[in-house]
Amino acid sequence: MGLLPRPPPRRLRRAGAAVTDLHTRHKAVLPDWLTLYYEDPIEITHGEGRHVWDTDGNKYLDFFGGILTTMTAHALPEVTKAVTEQAGRIIHTSTLYLNRQMVDLAERIAQLSGIPDARVFFTTSGTEANDTALLLATTHRQSNQILAMRNSYHGRSFTSVGITGNKGWSPTSLTPLQTQYVHGAVRTRGPYAHLDDTAFITACVDDLKDLLGHTRTPAALIAEPIQGVGGFTAPPDGLYAAFRDVLHQHGTLWIADEVQTGWGRTGEHFWGWQAHAASGPPDILTFAKGIGNGMSIGGVVARADIMNTLDSNSISTFGGSPITMAAGLANLTYLLEHDLQGNARRVGGLLIERLRAITAHLDGVREVRGRGLMIGIELVKPGTDEADPRAAAAVLETARREGLLIGKGGGHNTSVLRIAPPLTLTVAEAEEGASILERALNSAQ
Ligand code: PMP
Repeated sequence: MGLLPRPPPRRLRRAGAAVTDLHTRHKAVLPDWLTLYYEDPIEITHGEGRHVWDTDGNKYLDFFGGILTTMTAHALPEVTKAVTEQAGRIIHTSTLYLNRQMVDLAERIAQLSGIPDARVFFTTSGTEANDTALLLATTHRQSNQILAMRNSYHGRSFTSVGITGNKGWSPTSLTPLQTQYVHGAVRTRGPYAHLDDTAFITACVDDLKDLLGHTRTPAALIAEPIQGVGGFTAPPDGLYAAFRDVLHQHGTLWIADEVQTGWGRTGEHFWGWQAHAASGPPDILTFAKGIGNGMSIGGVVARADIMNTLDSNSISTFGGSPITMAAGLANLTYLLEHDLQGNARRVGGLLIERLRAITAHLDGVREVRGRGLMIGIELVKPGTDEADPRAAAAVLETARREGLLIGKGGGHNTSVLRIAPPLTLTVAEAEEGASILERALNSAQ
């Protein structure tokens, strides 16, 4: 990278009256907490590949994919065809009837999950997938105690905010669960940050053992292998396997929330848990976002003895609907046939290297981290370790003006830029995005 010519800065067409009016109507009718990116928010009208267009005709390179959800590409012909054909036949039947697409996709996911004797239950979101995982674990273990990671995010429902260790995303402390938060998901901050990887893992495991000595038996530990909303933070490889070995001595289950990290996004692995536990899979795995490429698919994979622990009926009316399953099958087939995990590893590897090079001299960049096409740039007030959410907002605005969409996250101070394009990203597009980010980061300082 770096050999390709850099494109000149682009000019943005100003928001027209139609968009300004829509923004006014949005604020008047939707909740205040449904926050929008940008001072002048964008209405996206269509997309293709790694690009989207807004109402005013501006074209953007999309490095956020609707929060890591447009996994393969915008308007991927294979997915569009599958959805269109299925819509022409039947959109909905419910789980009361046999559903060929659901069985096909469940078989493929069960096999890919690595979980022995796996059963799959489809939901319509990541939140509902995690709710289901909590229902299974707490019922299976007859315990309402949960261990979660500090700085975590698992969804927006009443149960999932009860296991969210990030106060910016946890609007209430009321919860049906008793949750304790464990150390280890943030490598470079917190009381163990100064330790080397081995000592860091030992300290976290010792802390977990100590915690277990003071609590009744928790049902499960839930963890994102790389924290998404938390700013793409991760522990050293191997931590969750070390946790699992301790947890299993207490009969406590390990739930891997793969909503952001699944399907090869991290390049080196198909699932995020594989960075931790070559020795074996989690007891329960949850997924959502990318598998549907925007169609609402979430789900849970668990061993049959855990999945079948419920002794009453349970359905999700929309979960696994024929139209979403058709999209998921076409999307997954494309991903596997085109080795998009390999592309994430190659192009993501080049991109992170390039981002490290262009930020090396910037005092306001604390860390460039990540794996594959899941890259975070943590911003701080120059010369300090203090989060700089204003700089992050400024970089987002400048990048947008130059035609690049990125995300942000990180603790409650949202000062981490999040880069997670569709997994078909080309080297030229990676280079173009990196050049825009270079200018945006320089101008923010
Ligand atoms: N888990 C993780 C790790 C997530 O990042 C998210 C969404 N950002 C969720 C769960 C919840 O998914 P959804 O928004 O589809 O309910």
